[in-house]
Amino acid sequence: MKTTSDSRVRAAGAVLRIDLNALVENYRILQRQTGAAEVGAVVKADAYGLGAIPVADALAGAGCRHFFVAHLGEAIALRDGLDGGQPIYVLNGLQPGAEAVAAAAGVVPVLNSLDQMARWAAQAREHGAVLPAVLQVDSGMGRLGLSPEETDQLVAEPDRLEGIALQLVMSHLACGDTPDAEANAQQYARFTDLASRFPGVRRSLDNSGGAFLGRNHFDLVRAGIALYGGAPHVGRPNPMRAVVSLDAHIIQVRDLPAGAGVGYGLTSVAEAPRRIATIGVGYADGWPRCVSNRGSAYIGGRRVPVAGRVSMDSMTLDVTGIEENLLQPGAPVELLGPHQGIDHAAADADTIAYEILTQLGARYARDYLPAGSTPV
Ligand SMILES: *Cc1c(COP(=O)(O)O)cnc(C)c1O
Repeated sequence: MKTTSDSRVRAAGAVLRIDLNALVENYRILQRQTGAAEVGAVVKADAYGLGAIPVADALAGAGCRHFFVAHLGEAIALRDGLDGGQPIYVLNGLQPGAEAVAAAAGVVPVLNSLDQMARWAAQAREHGAVLPAVLQVDSGMGRLGLSPEETDQLVAEPDRLEGIALQLVMSHLACGDTPDAEANAQQYARFTDLASRFPGVRRSLDNSGGAFLGRNHFDLVRAGIALYGGAPHVGRPNPMRAVVSLDAHIIQVRDLPAGAGVGYGLTSVAEAPRRIATIGVGYADGWPRCVSNRGSAYIGGRRVPVAGRVSMDSMTLDVTGIEENLLQPGAPVELLGPHQGIDHAAADADTIAYEILTQLGARYARDYLPAGSTPV
């Protein structure tokens, strides 16, 4: 997989490889898992840091027909970059004053309140048009969407939907990543009931975790993290293929005598002599500072612990005992890859794979393995 020129790689602190083949394979795994339901792709936050346009392009090529982002600005950027005219849904809905821009861009807002609905209907009236929208109902997460009472009010006053073509009624799971949570069955039942008030409208409840709950998935699944290789369920075997790898390289190696500290604050001091390698990735690249003195990297498949604090642009690894020929300047150091996946890196940082991915830095050289190419 030598698509990145060596000079670009050497000019950056690390190279981030994004395997669009694995992405497409994950889309197919999800599709098999959810049977008759369609799988839509959640590409908010620049496709969880992996690049919304290349990711959406690859998925569209594999047959994906629905794309979700969080903000109107993300939707407009994707609309400009995606050729096929697939619907792009804005999960955070419609900010006051954004109606004309959203309508002109041809994107589909998720209406989360009766107020948003009134403004979208007014926009439709003003232009004598019918505008598409998704209706979100709150089935128990307490974040966005119409409450059950507001849903009743809407059903009693159907004129509120005049000029609006409902594409979908949706809700979101609070505990989709925890299959044993009772809330999943409660939300499923409440959503089934709320959605039944809108006969004939397609329904969407599940995210990645929901897609693996082994029950009916309604009409459309909104998958994010599983497409990008994250485990759908915390602490369970991960059926998805890894999509990202991140390789830094060694800048310098030094030998420290017993009792010498390393890094800001000299927080790491060893009783014995040790060898320290410095790599050019730090917290400004999104590598979490909280893995200071507890995270890992891998050299030649062997674990090398982070020694001392993670700096802004670099971090120090204890490479004592690693073969000399693997420690030359420029030698590769795995931060994400076969020995350390995104869920593993997240656990070291007390966070979730979503945060590891979305923080991945803008300074890395990026290397996309195109969909349809043969993995090396
Ligand atoms: C982010 C998001 C998703 C995707 O969730 P994953 O757990 O990444 O699959 C789906 N639906 C909504 C409403 C979201 O905000």
